[in-house]
Amino acid sequence: MKISVAIDGPAAAGKSTVAKKVAEIKGYTYIDTGAMYRAFTWYCLEKGVDCQDEAACVALIPEVNIKLRPGHVVLCNDIDVTRQIREPRVSGNVSYIASYKDIRLFLVDQQRTMAGKHSVIMDGRDIGTYVLPNADVKIYQIASVETRAIRRYDENISKGIPCTLEEIEEDVRKRDYIDSHRAFAPLKPAPDSVLLDTSFMSVDEVVNAVIEIIDKKIQEKGGN
Ligand code: C5P
Repeated sequence: MKISVAIDGPAAAGKSTVAKKVAEIKGYTYIDTGAMYRAFTWYCLEKGVDCQDEAACVALIPEVNIKLRPGHVVLCNDIDVTRQIREPRVSGNVSYIASYKDIRLFLVDQQRTMAGKHSVIMDGRDIGTYVLPNADVKIYQIASVETRAIRRYDENISKGIPCTLEEIEEDVRKRDYIDSHRAFAPLKPAPDSVLLDTSFMSVDEVVNAVIEIIDKKIQEKGGN
């Protein structure tokens, strides 16, 4: 049975950590849509284009070819940018890029194609509301801004990406603001999503909760 799972929520809520684990356990394909917006942002920065200049960024669409490869590898025009897309300069600009409708339409088209083929778990901001409005399971994952900043700080440090906790908290607040206030496909819970506040939950607890929701849905659909 083909299943699609959408996980949305604010920055650094632990969506990708959970989605990766659930994908592994259930044998689904994990699609990190944030990585695609980040790769586009990386390309704009490489080209020296101002990320707040919508027309200049949109003009780059025909030059950009983003691929998600096994092992969570992200390629932009066949260059491995997996590490670069997590750098603060990308995080600090990605929400501008993600607010441009033409760039969203370009990337959403690819996301829908990927979701059409396999059982998927896709995480982002607009998956349940816009990319996959008919997803079988929709989760809206939240946590307090302080918790999210600490989690992202720890993650960056463990990956060798230098940062301070203050910088991360500011980045998270700024992205949440821009992501939830943009005109096209903003961050917001789908009306039929399950709200999961993970502030006081371990990763395993969240993973188990998500799997329980998925299994219940599969049973309702008459699968096993
Ligand atoms: O998920 P991640 O934090 O890596 O996403 C980076 C940024 O990409 C978000 O802050 C948001 O601006 C944008 N994004 C989006 N829609 C998605 C996924 C990410 O606008 N579906």
